[in-house]
Amino acid sequence: MKRRDLTRRQFIAAASASSIAAVASASLTGYAGLTRTAGTLAVLGGEPVRNKNKPWPAWPYVDERIVDSVVKTTRSGIWCRIQSASGAVAAFEKEYAKLMGARFCVATGSGTQALHTCVEALGIGPGDEVITTPYTDPGTIQAILSARALPVLADLDPASYQLDPDDAERRITENTRAIMPVHMMGQPCHLERIMAIARKHNLAVIEDAAQAHLSEYQGKKLGTIAPLGCFSFQASKTIACGEGGAIVGDDEALMDKCYTVHNHGTSRRGRTEVIGPKYRMNEFQAAVLLPQLLGAQERFQRRNENAAYLTSRLKGCPGILPQKLYQGTASGSFYIYAMSYKKEQWNGADRSAFLKALEAEGLSLSPYIGHGLHREPWVENILRSKVYQKMFSPRRLRQYRDELNCPNCDRVCQEMAMVWASGPLLGTRSDMDDIADAILKVYENRDRLGSI
Ligand SMILES: *Cc1c(COP(=O)(O)O)cnc(C)c1O
Repeated sequence: MKRRDLTRRQFIAAASASSIAAVASASLTGYAGLTRTAGTLAVLGGEPVRNKNKPWPAWPYVDERIVDSVVKTTRSGIWCRIQSASGAVAAFEKEYAKLMGARFCVATGSGTQALHTCVEALGIGPGDEVITTPYTDPGTIQAILSARALPVLADLDPASYQLDPDDAERRITENTRAIMPVHMMGQPCHLERIMAIARKHNLAVIEDAAQAHLSEYQGKKLGTIAPLGCFSFQASKTIACGEGGAIVGDDEALMDKCYTVHNHGTSRRGRTEVIGPKYRMNEFQAAVLLPQLLGAQERFQRRNENAAYLTSRLKGCPGILPQKLYQGTASGSFYIYAMSYKKEQWNGADRSAFLKALEAEGLSLSPYIGHGLHREPWVENILRSKVYQKMFSPRRLRQYRDELNCPNCDRVCQEMAMVWASGPLLGTRSDMDDIADAILKVYENRDRLGSI
């Protein structure tokens, strides 16, 4: 508790020091592009910052190479990976492992499938507990629930939106087998501390890097730091094929186990050996992904440059705090460009008024996850289920319900304002200026937000 408070205080102190410095300089020079931020809010009849019809870069990314690749797979008749050892899926696994700097890759039908495969491959099941975050995609906890293990939800660092390592450590019990940290928004969570906690308590770690393709932390790609890392290629992600996923890792025996599990429990040797769903990626998914890898690094770079510029433009605005990044963060995928809306700096105006005013300026920000997964009905449903009542003592299930509070997550859900960045952050400098100008214009008119 003490440690977390300290970290938060330090962060708040650092954040407000930089805001004060920036406000001081803003009052001398004005925000960059002040002329465009001046004027009546569009929601009150003024000119919008950005014309509604001006498109943002589209997502998912499509080029002729992708179209040709799908046509080629269609004509080849090789539609399933087991038809050929050198098809698109096998080629994708090889290329993706290389790109990530991992020895092995197993491609799956989705990120959720990749995560569930890892849980099964580690032998985690009924009676076991896995610690993760409530601020994530439902797939993260479904991967644990599908193995009939118990997802234990720890609270967040409210400035980074990531799993708080101290709270995760506090929630370890004698049944805990693994931690599943999530790199939210494609930015690294505090993985160094999480890995240290896992070593200390002898726990497995599965990185949920579903949003974090190509992100780098302490000299390594996210997803390759723990023994197992999972990715998603669902349509919105920064490398996408509609639905798809992958596991990467360096441990040959463990990755072989993942292959067996994902291949309806049937090993490369052709024997049906363990419990395993059928989670194979099909050749069409790989056909979309393979040519996409060619420009992925360049698009990643552009998103990082644009995000850095956007952050520099928003720095003077005390009402907006961009996502806190941990030391060791070299780059992020920018699946999402996330920031906290600090209501007290906006004359108390509700976030909904801010979002409505921004929408009229031509910028659509989303509140993203409405409430943490600790507030969804699955909790009561599993507590009432016969399976969970058989696997866990009444005392443990009571304690589970009593301790299922994550106030920092609740606060993050109330303050979040984010851009789906896969496409928009591939835009030009002038697109980034539109985003910053719209936010700063609404900020300068914050005393009018009460009347909209
Ligand atoms: C998208 C996502 C998943 C699930 O991946 P799917 O491919 O949609 O199954 C899991 N975790 C996180 C953090 C995600 O963003």
